[in-house]
Amino acid sequence: MEKTVNKEDLRKFYESIFDLKPLIKAIGLTDFERREFGFLLSKDVFSRNLSFKTLSDFKNFILEKLPLQQFVGAVYDQGPTFSNPIQKLNWSYREFIFDVDLDAYDMVRHCDCKGSKQVCEDCWSLAQDAALFLDETLRIDFGFEDLIFVFSGRRGIHCWVRDHVAKELDSEQRSAIVSYLTMITDEKRSQKLEEIPKYAKLLRDRVFQKIAKSFFLNVSKKDLNLLGFRPEEAEKAIEFVESKEKFSPENYYKTIPEHVDPKRVSMAIVLGRYPRLDKPVTSDIRRLLRIPGSVHSATGKICTIIDSHKLENFSPKDVPTIWDLI
Ligand SMILES: [Zn+2]
Repeated sequence: MEKTVNKEDLRKFYESIFDLKPLIKAIGLTDFERREFGFLLSKDVFSRNLSFKTLSDFKNFILEKLPLQQFVGAVYDQGPTFSNPIQKLNWSYREFIFDVDLDAYDMVRHCDCKGSKQVCEDCWSLAQDAALFLDETLRIDFGFEDLIFVFSGRRGIHCWVRDHVAKELDSEQRSAIVSYLTMITDEKRSQKLEEIPKYAKLLRDRVFQKIAKSFFLNVSKKDLNLLGFRPEEAEKAIEFVESKEKFSPENYYKTIPEHVDPKRVSMAIVLGRYPRLDKPVTSDIRRLLRIPGSVHSATGKICTIIDSHKLENFSPKDVPTIWDLI
């Protein structure tokens, strides 16, 4: 049976191990008293519209209530309270968030992780691809610089964009950016690579360099056979991709045998490996997000900040659980 986090575990964790540094790294201390916080206090009691004057007030609350889960939201013109909830306040700003959750890949995950609480190396590579793609796109196409990535503690990654200009984007602007990054709007069909508009050349090239390349490095020969590759062609295509450090659109077309429909392959690539971003999380500027450094009570794992240059080597396997720490 799977272990569950109990109040005694939480007491030990909050008393001597819980570290506020990851939270401070994510939100900073300016305007701390105007931030909304939310907590899962027990299995079915969720409380939001909370704010704290100081870090030690926050810490004291945690020690007293021993929450199962901790969340942080936006900054308002005043700190929210029960009698003065966020609906009555003026929204000031919030970090620009992207959420990649492996649940969204269930249709294309080939491992046994579907529906259960685990991730394996196979499906984690999908989240990794998404984070690396996001990192490059947000930096190069939009000029954002201050990005952190956070492992949610289960099977997702959050990207927090903390540039000043990003924090002030309204919901519509956030939606527009996530739409630019979205190629799968329907579970059963996706946009084809050929349909990426020519003016989005940077994005288009990146899809080939990162996503198409990753597809060939992870695909089985059998799956290529199903797309029309003959056995020897499948082997040759994979070897060709492995030999290219920079994989260009031209390289891509060279990997597709003449008798195979490139559009069919490109659709398989996008459906199989293109980032699946949770749009409502990005566009909802009041949404609460798991606090870095807190425990995910379903897995016991610590929600952990990942440096962007370490994304490629990060594995949820290496993240400690509350039981490892207490
Ligand atoms: Zn898996």
